[in-house]
Amino acid sequence: MTKHLKTEVVRGTGIGNGGIVGKLRFLHTSTPKSEKKGGGIEVERARLQEAIASVEHSISHLQKTAEEDIGSDAAEIFAIHAMLLEDEDLQEAMERALLEGLSAEAAVEVASSELSSALAALNDSYLAARAADVRDVCAQLIGELSNKSETGNASANEPYILVARDLTPSQTVGLDRSTLLGFVTFEGSPNSHTAILARAMGIPALVCTGEFSKEYDGTTALLDASGGELTLLPSEAEKADFEARCAKNAVLASQRTHFLNGLLDKPAITKSGHQILIYANIGGEAEVDAALSFGADGIGLLRSEFLYLSLDRAPDEERLYQSYRAVAERMQGRRVVIRTLDIGADKQVSYLSLPREENPALGLRGVRLCLRERTLFCEQIRAILRASAHGKVALMLPMVVGAQEVRACRDLIAECMQMLSERGEKYDKDLEIGIMIETPAAAIMCRELSHEVDFFSVGTNDLLQYTLAADRQNPHVEALCRENQEPVLHLIANAAEAIHARGGWIGICGELAADFSLTQRFCDMHVDELSVSTPYLLELRERILECQ
Ligand code: PEP
Ligand code: MG
Repeated sequence: MTKHLKTEVVRGTGIGNGGIVGKLRFLHTSTPKSEKKGGGIEVERARLQEAIASVEHSISHLQKTAEEDIGSDAAEIFAIHAMLLEDEDLQEAMERALLEGLSAEAAVEVASSELSSALAALNDSYLAARAADVRDVCAQLIGELSNKSETGNASANEPYILVARDLTPSQTVGLDRSTLLGFVTFEGSPNSHTAILARAMGIPALVCTGEFSKEYDGTTALLDASGGELTLLPSEAEKADFEARCAKNAVLASQRTHFLNGLLDKPAITKSGHQILIYANIGGEAEVDAALSFGADGIGLLRSEFLYLSLDRAPDEERLYQSYRAVAERMQGRRVVIRTLDIGADKQVSYLSLPREENPALGLRGVRLCLRERTLFCEQIRAILRASAHGKVALMLPMVVGAQEVRACRDLIAECMQMLSERGEKYDKDLEIGIMIETPAAAIMCRELSHEVDFFSVGTNDLLQYTLAADRQNPHVEALCRENQEPVLHLIANAAEAIHARGGWIGICGELAADFSLTQRFCDMHVDELSVSTPYLLELRERILECQ
């Protein structure tokens, strides 16, 4: 089957560093067409049973990893998937289709569409979410069945390089990190949330400029994120050469790590005496230990929505409190900036049943959504307040454009404080409240906004998108963002001046904070804090020490 395929080099934009050798595994997002070409009912039934066992195995493995990584609530989705695999209605529908002479893949496809349509037709949001789970589990079964086909593709438990048209943040959060070597996507850009997650996970990724055939599924490839290329079906000599280069780079990287570790206790002070706090961007409590081991002075951005994305219903106050408290306690008095829920745009959760929008990036996202979903928002605010009794916690609002929004949020925070006082719960009455500067409106109005808040943090990913009118998800305008940073730097410099004039502090937590070619500019603006993914923490410290 793979005989006619040849060695090919695909170019793209690398994310993260390093290189890896592994088998490609295509993400099966669509199901194959029904076909009547089964290998006989006994053969097809046996294939199906084998696929069910294998998917069951990988689901239970995923559940264990998710429990360790993001907590037991987050792992609940996998328990539901395991139950669905054994669901009688699903089993019966597959058996009926097999008896009609369909192949195992086609039987799963038919059963999936029967059951998911029946659930969706019940017009109940909880069951509608189960319909999506049925489709998800069935897609895994089909993926497993096709992986076991003649091409001899990568098996589910073997380390692999994931290939997908694009990955949503929730798909990325749900990936089993223990066997994932890297990503290859055909869409997305270095500022997309998926790219940010790949960087935080410290795994190489590539956004390809062109596509390649699905027939390469299961074949070996060389992914070189530093060089921005993927070699399909490499020759033995190319593979050996690449492996030797990777090994050499690994030695150099470990020497460099040794050197950088020597900087761990050095305050990040420029040669002219300006100190910058180096904070970490994290997605949840599982990343705190790594942040500390790379010397984070605090957490500058806890992307609180990642927990919501990994669940199949909104977490309640208690669940959120436990998670935030764990982070606050582990940071031992260092500042922890918890950004309130930034759902919307590319970060969607099915359980909120949000209306479809023509331009979601310009629609109900971040604080706009939270001010409409007040019950949901207040659960989170109370959890943040309660966590503030266990460390130095700050609350940060995303996607703000004006003072009205901040005041509305402050009113809700005051109500939540009142409620907690009545319940006899402890919290920090002087909790710092800040906003992200992600919109040109917030950047322009920060002198006025500093009457309303204690601090600011610049989200350059969105500030670039909204200032340059260039979708951060769209690879076609990625170069435009790279080549036109000046307007955004201008906005940041003006904002820093206005904020400092009123005695406030300003940080940067977007990806530009980790662009070392800009560090001197940020030092010149007297930015107070830079917050980056953990793999960049030590290099940033080194860079600041070199700056004037
Ligand atoms: C940003 O927009 O720069 C930011 C840090 O937030 P996010 O990437 O999560 O949108
Ligand atoms: Mg943002």
